[in-house]
Amino acid sequence: RDGKNKNKPIHLFQQHIQEAMTRQLTLEKDLQNVSIGDEFSIVFQPQVKVSTNEIIGFESLARWRHPLFGPISPVEFIALAEEKLIIYQLTERTIDYVFKILETRKREYSFTGIVSINISSLLLEHVVFIEFVRSRLSYFDINPKQIEFEITESVQLFSSETVLSHLQLLRKMGIRISIDDFGTGYAALSYLSHFPVDKVKIDKHFIDQIDTDRKGEAILKSIISLIKNMELYMIAEGVETADQIRFLKERGCDHIQGYYVSKPLTEEKSDMVVKNGCYIK
Ligand code: C2E
Ligand code: MG
Ligand code: MG
Ligand code: MG
Repeated sequence: RDGKNKNKPIHLFQQHIQEAMTRQLTLEKDLQNVSIGDEFSIVFQPQVKVSTNEIIGFESLARWRHPLFGPISPVEFIALAEEKLIIYQLTERTIDYVFKILETRKREYSFTGIVSINISSLLLEHVVFIEFVRSRLSYFDINPKQIEFEITESVQLFSSETVLSHLQLLRKMGIRISIDDFGTGYAALSYLSHFPVDKVKIDKHFIDQIDTDRKGEAILKSIISLIKNMELYMIAEGVETADQIRFLKERGCDHIQGYYVSKPLTEEKSDMVVKNGCYIK
């Protein structure tokens, strides 16, 4: 073997690493500067009360179509934003954007439903974030009861006294707190009894087990009765079939979100839904 061939695999590997690093750096820089509206947007997925077909609210979800790399999954860019601490400004922009939309929908269409926003637990460590929310609540003409913050359960989240007191402050302002991806992050259920929370979002993982996994179904049934007994609100995430809806309804989980009802809608489409009265056909 001559030196040239020996170096080739290493060269390709280096090239691959270099490209990945360039992409990462470009994404990081661009994410820092995005403003919401065009390539970066917010979509709204309806949350429905099955028994009445009424839309009780929308979850706001971020979308990013990068001019060079195309659509980037929120799983990727939210993780990047958290790692590079861009998440603070990104969430503040999102809150401003969503509160403004809520204000308009309330004024123009008398919308009384809920809008939920995903909040990274990093933000809950900082009192400046809590004060930011307070100032935006007073700036916009909105009812705090219409706002829900979704927080993904994690061990760090439930073991921090600071986070706990900040969540209490948010609830005093009138904001509702829901636990996202419930059942996937933190096994001990005992936290529910002393944690300031209004609502639980049952993760898609459990919904997928309806009709496919007996033991998984048993766990889902106990989760539903646990939430009911604790007198918390609940919603099932990622519902994709009529059979799943039937199962959930029969056991007392009447609120659902998922592709079966609707995929996340663009701002314009969700505006139309609100304008036309918030019912699904
Ligand atoms: P999440 O908050 O648990 O949101 C639910 C995810 O499930 C969304 O994915 C939604 O599009 C998807 N989904 C809803 N119904 C169905 C269904 O029936 N089937 C399937 N297969 N999927 C369904 P998405 O939009 O890709 O978001 C992924 C995650 O990224 C979110 O999970 C959330 O944790 C995070 N995320 C999205 N936007 C934001 C944001 O603005 N801020 C923060 N901090 N996180 C965000
Ligand atoms: Mg969520
Ligand atoms: Mg989540
Ligand atoms: Mg979730």
